[in-house]
Amino acid sequence: MSEKNYIIKVENLSKIYTMGQEKILALDNVSIGFEKGKIYCLLGTSGSGKSTLLNMIAGLERSTKGSIVFKGKHIEKMSEEGLAIFRQKYLGFVFQSYNLLPTLTALENVMLPLVFMGYKKSEREKRAFSVLKEVGLEKRIKHKPSEMSGGQQQRVSIARAFVNNPEIIFADEPTGNLDTKTTYEMMNLITSKVREHNQTLIIVTHDLEISEYADEIIYLKDGHIIKTEINENPKKEVLYTQ
Ligand code: ADP
Ligand code: MG
Repeated sequence: MSEKNYIIKVENLSKIYTMGQEKILALDNVSIGFEKGKIYCLLGTSGSGKSTLLNMIAGLERSTKGSIVFKGKHIEKMSEEGLAIFRQKYLGFVFQSYNLLPTLTALENVMLPLVFMGYKKSEREKRAFSVLKEVGLEKRIKHKPSEMSGGQQQRVSIARAFVNNPEIIFADEPTGNLDTKTTYEMMNLITSKVREHNQTLIIVTHDLEISEYADEIIYLKDGHIIKTEINENPKKEVLYTQ
């Protein structure tokens, strides 16, 4: 796999959690590469190590062993501060639980990642509004999370993930709390945006149907990659008809 031009390369990555006397091997010597502009799915049942792998690649959690080279940099060697800057600059996140700040409006939530980029307020507002419009929420910009449906909150979190134009988007079970119709809407939205801007998406799911949107499916079981599969014909837009 060395001849490919990987934007992220993971080698011999392991993670052991210690809980009292017990040691849990959540990831066992995993090696994998991710190319720019592709959609990847980490697929496996609950407890297989998907979130652990995603969190380590995204610099949210430290590994026990192994290396993660991200745009030529060893992120396992970066300081906490260095990692925080790296995340703000290059990464976008979408979580199952949306992770919006409850006291901020939709617009303010989406503006937040731009604060760290040094834009002035009027520019932050302009950019945040434009992404919220793209996700169909231009009429909800003053709503707080509690004043929106789950699907709308996830749209806000998608807008927040994309507002920086990050190179990589990480999504951990992004549709886990949504109904089937909204799930398709969200998947269409995320994947079409990623393809349009040639971004890389790494999405964690236990749902086979979601994995069909990916160019490559990485199967995890008990902390191991048991199989990787190239999907020659990934789903593009699925219209929900029921
Ligand atoms: P998945 O996302 O595939 O459901 P996880 O990566 O969250 O799985 O978990 C993998 C394994 O590691 C599981 O056995 C889980 O219980 C364990 N684990 C995850 N996070 C922690 C933690 N913070 N402390 C202890 N064990 C953990
Ligand atoms: Mg998980």
